[in-house]
Amino acid sequence: MGRTGTSRPRPSEWRIARRGNDGAASSGTAARVRPLFSGPPTPRRWTQSAPVALTHRVRAGQRGFSAVHRLLTHALTGMDRRLGELAPRIQPRGDYRRPMERERAPAIRAVLIDIDGVLTVSWEPLPGAVEAMERLRAAGLPLALVTNTTSRTRASICARLTGAGFPVSVDDILTAPAVTAAHLRENHPGARCLLLNAGDIQDDLTGVTLVEPEAQADVDVVVVGGAGDEFGYAALNRVFHHLQRGAHLVAMHQNLYWRTADGLDLDTGAFLLGLERAARVEATITGKPSEAFFAAALAHLGADASATLMVGDDIESDVLAAQRSGITGTLVKTGKYLPETHRSADGTPDHVLDSFAALPDLLEQLASDSR
Ligand SMILES: [Mg+2]
Repeated sequence: MGRTGTSRPRPSEWRIARRGNDGAASSGTAARVRPLFSGPPTPRRWTQSAPVALTHRVRAGQRGFSAVHRLLTHALTGMDRRLGELAPRIQPRGDYRRPMERERAPAIRAVLIDIDGVLTVSWEPLPGAVEAMERLRAAGLPLALVTNTTSRTRASICARLTGAGFPVSVDDILTAPAVTAAHLRENHPGARCLLLNAGDIQDDLTGVTLVEPEAQADVDVVVVGGAGDEFGYAALNRVFHHLQRGAHLVAMHQNLYWRTADGLDLDTGAFLLGLERAARVEATITGKPSEAFFAAALAHLGADASATLMVGDDIESDVLAAQRSGITGTLVKTGKYLPETHRSADGTPDHVLDSFAALPDLLEQLASDSR
């Protein structure tokens, strides 16, 4: 049993330090006393620190309340920290709703519906989408189709949807180009605008003065729409030059990609990031996810945010952005939906549906819950 003063004490001989008013150890032999917490805890993972401490105490046969209390506090603090780290990963998602939330479901009196990836993919209707829209129409619910589509005018979109069987009209459709035109008329009246966009949308840009891309005219506002072959080096470099000369940058949206029948295609957001970084400017976003877009949609319907539901396949631009405006957000697992994007999102949708086809049943359920 002989030990020197510098040798490590065996676990069975460790004690908890008892300190008197002067802070000195008042019991036990100094050489044999090892305070359990002699200072700030050494940062360790709880899986290492708490079990080690517990093992030591069990071996030492400590039974005092203080010892047990401190041990449990240490262990629980570590567990709490560890659980805190796990919390975001185990946070319930999907259609999980706590009972109290069900009881307090808002009465939905208007619906905003994304088009691409929700009703259609490559303009082909998704299964059950036409029938679901017919049920919404039969219910008489005010609705608006809100889309960042920049490749077609509202009239053209309406023609494609009605041709596919959707019971909609031009007045039901609110596009990013239409909202952009309203933004330009209000905030840049008379401005000379350079448009970079794939698709002919001039009919929806009434009151906006467009300059020819090749002209050497001064440009007050660069307006970026949807990406396509038009986003070549010459065109992007021309935009870059105008931005360096002080032109404002307005973007109809900042979507990074969209779903086509052949998979995901690169969209405006990817190019926008480069332009903003290179020219040291910040674009004004007029389409989703901007708050102004949702405000325009609500005004279009005369609806209140708290009584409106938005359904979309883009968790950031459609769902969480709508929720930030006070609208009930609903994510559908069609179109550009990706499980990993859903898991890593900064927020949780109010509802998640397999597809738009399930929306009428959800609305009926919400109406029932709100009564
Ligand atoms: Mg979409």
